[in-house]
Amino acid sequence: MDFLESYRKAGRIAGKVRENARKKNHIGSTVYEVCQKIEEEIKMMGGRPAFPVNVSLNEIAAHYTAEPNDPIQVKDGDVLKIDIGVHIDGYIADTAVTVCYDPKFEPLVIASEASLEEALKISKSGSKSSDIGKIIEMNIKKRGFVPIKNLSGHSLEQYTIHAGRSIPNIDSFGSFRLENNHAYAIEPFLTLKNGLGIVHEGKIANIFAIVSRKPTKDKESDEALNQIWAKFKSLPFALRWLLDLYEEKNARDVLEKLRKRKNVHAYPVLIEGNGMMVAQSEHTIIPKENHVEVITA
Ligand code: MN
Ligand code: MN
Repeated sequence: MDFLESYRKAGRIAGKVRENARKKNHIGSTVYEVCQKIEEEIKMMGGRPAFPVNVSLNEIAAHYTAEPNDPIQVKDGDVLKIDIGVHIDGYIADTAVTVCYDPKFEPLVIASEASLEEALKISKSGSKSSDIGKIIEMNIKKRGFVPIKNLSGHSLEQYTIHAGRSIPNIDSFGSFRLENNHAYAIEPFLTLKNGLGIVHEGKIANIFAIVSRKPTKDKESDEALNQIWAKFKSLPFALRWLLDLYEEKNARDVLEKLRKRKNVHAYPVLIEGNGMMVAQSEHTIIPKENHVEVITA
């Protein structure tokens, strides 16, 4: 399949799965159930999850995924970011929606969607990343909210989610122009007016990725490294995804060893600096000469 077709297929699946997740009432479900169902749906539609579904609640902006049988339940006061990745042959569609059951936070969610829509309107080949950041910031601020300035969109490459280019959520120095037929994710993150607008790393880290295949001098670890590489390559994975290979305790030990040897990186959760609610919206786009293809629409 042509790479553009792979992107489009990944995007169609990701978009459908996101809309199903948006419509569903998740109150009372555990985050484990939310992740499992979405990942199952992706596979049923013929895609592969490009990373563990992120289910980040309230002041957690990103990078939380369910632990095996994670008991955390979605409650009616929650603001839940569901971030979904689908790949076809390594070509990744990255998309996110915020679901919210407390009407008090609805304007926050609406602002995230609106700022993304406005950013898409000015995105095509040659658009400057700084202009996109400027539009996002303006649309967030005019609705009385605060952009998260140390989270950004990004370029995508085959089997690589963050491929080097950043698309900011604020007006910022340093800019590049969107390239024709390349893939980019645009993802405004925002918080309430008394938020800090900066995320910090938290203590929990339950999303992992192989960052080096250098042999470890330990036979068991080398074997694990090869098995994990065969399954996910450089893409992120969760401990839950290793349970067909190992028992849970064993999987934790193996991961810990690989992490200590710096073969595997663990991504910490990212938490709003003042502990304020965070919303996010995300689409993956492919810029064209005179328009933009929103592959996750
Ligand atoms: Mn995402
Ligand atoms: Mn992304």
